[in-house]
Amino acid sequence: MKKVRASMGTLGVLGLEMIQMDTPPTTAYLQIYTEKRCNANCQFCAQAKSSSADLTHIARGMYVPYDLGAVVSRLKMAYDRGYLARACIQTALYDSWWWDTVHLIKMIRENSQIPISLSVFPVSNERFEVIRSLNVNDIVIPLDACTPELFNKIKGKSAGGPYSWESHMDGIKRASRIFQKVGTHVMIGLGETDEDAIRLISELWKNNVNAALFSYTYVPGTQFEIAEKPQSEIIRHYRAVQLARHLIVEKLADYPDMRFENNNICDFGIDENVLLSVIEDGRAFQTSGCPDCNRPMANETFSQIFNFPKKPDDEEKENIKRELGMEI
Ligand code: SF4
Repeated sequence: MKKVRASMGTLGVLGLEMIQMDTPPTTAYLQIYTEKRCNANCQFCAQAKSSSADLTHIARGMYVPYDLGAVVSRLKMAYDRGYLARACIQTALYDSWWWDTVHLIKMIRENSQIPISLSVFPVSNERFEVIRSLNVNDIVIPLDACTPELFNKIKGKSAGGPYSWESHMDGIKRASRIFQKVGTHVMIGLGETDEDAIRLISELWKNNVNAALFSYTYVPGTQFEIAEKPQSEIIRHYRAVQLARHLIVEKLADYPDMRFENNNICDFGIDENVLLSVIEDGRAFQTSGCPDCNRPMANETFSQIFNFPKKPDDEEKENIKRELGMEI
C-alpha cells in the first residue's frame, strides 16, 4: 500500500493541500487505501458494496488518496509542532484490509508517537492483541445504530451486510477486556427516538464504552433515505441527545433520572438552573469521542452545525437554546 486516504482538512494541516479552514482539525483523519468497494453494505455509507456514491466520501468529508510516505512524514512534523494531537484510522472490509491496516499503523508508529485511534469492525481476540501490541491508543467499534432493529436494517442482514448487533456487542465486550476502554460511533437521525439513543449511551457508558455522536448525513448515491422531517425536529433531537450524553458522562444525571413523553425527553433529571448552566457552558455540544477529536465539517454545513469543533460562542449558544425549544 503506497497510498492512504486523508480528509481534505487533514491535508490542509499537513501542508499538502491549500485550503481555507475556519477551524482546522486537531486530529488527522485517515482511511486505509483501496479502489475497491467495501464488502459490507452499510446503507448510509458511500463506500458500501451496493452504493453508487463517490468512493472519496465519508459523510460530508472528502478523503483523497495521497502518497503514504508524504502523509506519514508530515504527520510527525505536525505532531511535533503541536498542530495535530492524534491520528484516526478508518478501515473498510476488503481482501487485504488487515495487512493494509497493520502496515499503516506500523508506518505511523515508526515515525512518531502520535496517539492513534483505530475504528474497526469486530475482529478476533488475536487481532485485537496485535492492534494493542502496535501501540494503538484507542479502539473504536462503530455500532452506528441505536437499536438492534435499526442495526439490522442499516448494516445487518436486512441491509445485505455481514454484521449483526450481537457480534458488534460481543466485539465491544472482548475489546474492552483487552483495551480496558473502548469507543463506538452512534449516528443520530436514523429513525431512533430520544429514548433509544439516550438509553444506549447510558448502558454503554456504564460498561466503559464512550459513544461518539454523529448526525446522519445523506450522501447522494448511498442507499438509505429516511422520510423527510422538519429541520427543527432533526436538530432538537440531536441537541437533546448531546445534552443527555454530556450529563451522563459528567455524572450530572443518568438515564433512570430522565423522563420521556412519546419517546421525546421532557425532563433531563436535574435542576433547571443546573441544566441552564450546562447549556451555557457549551461543552455538551462540542464534538464527542476520542481525546482531541474535533471533526470540523464532518457532518455539518455552514448553516447547520451539529458538533461544534470548539466551544460555541454566545450567539451559537443562544441558537442552541432555541433549537432545544427553550424560551429565551
Ligand atoms: S471519535 Fe474521532 S478520533 Fe475517535 S475514532 Fe471516531 S472519528 Fe476517530
